[in-house]
Amino acid sequence: MELYRLLQQQGFGSRKECRKMVEYGLVEINGAVAEDYRQDWTPAEIDELVVDGEPWELQTGPIYVMLHKPDGYETSHKPMHHPSVYTLLPWQFANLGITAVGRLDVDTTGLLLLTNDGQFVHALSSPKRHVAKCYEVTLKHPVADGLVRHLLAGVFLKDDNEKIAADHVEVMDEITIRMTITQGKYHQVKRMVAAAGNRVLDLHRLSLGTVLLGDLDEGQWRYLDAAELASFG
Ligand code: URA
Repeated sequence: MELYRLLQQQGFGSRKECRKMVEYGLVEINGAVAEDYRQDWTPAEIDELVVDGEPWELQTGPIYVMLHKPDGYETSHKPMHHPSVYTLLPWQFANLGITAVGRLDVDTTGLLLLTNDGQFVHALSSPKRHVAKCYEVTLKHPVADGLVRHLLAGVFLKDDNEKIAADHVEVMDEITIRMTITQGKYHQVKRMVAAAGNRVLDLHRLSLGTVLLGDLDEGQWRYLDAAELASFG
């Protein structure tokens, strides 16, 4: 494939922009500045691609990443009041159609999956999938007798006539619980906790299915490994 088309496919911009990048000498392949944007390359021939001084890992299939979302970022391509989570990823990913699997509220931190595999987003977002989502919840008031029972038995959320229940709730300390849900309703954890008589002060997602956030630093991202990807079936 001609180099400028390959660059375009990697998310570096329009064909014209990609041609210019090569003309300006901004593209290095295997240690040498690329001279000709029309030269054919296959991804297998490219061991090292550097664009504008930044090494780039060639994308040869769908992209699946996890991000440790910090507080104060919107899960939106068109944020209203805060920066977008997409600004924490390489800018080329947006050109490649990366989107989040579900949303976290602006003040929720923790594990966010993102991909450009539309079927994956669709499958995981389906209510039938029941993917377990585990949150660490910091409460405003100490855990009352009955809070856990209440969340497990189910609560009614406003505008919803079905009871909704947590799958698992564990008390960590006086004001902290870990709560696993399998649905993905709007502000679900906050609304469930409020319906059970407490308030959420901080919300942090620890895991999705069997995939754990682990020790990924806040604001950092990484590719999912093969086992993590396979765990979503
Ligand atoms: N539940 C909430 O209330 N907020 C989130 O961001 C995620 C789950």
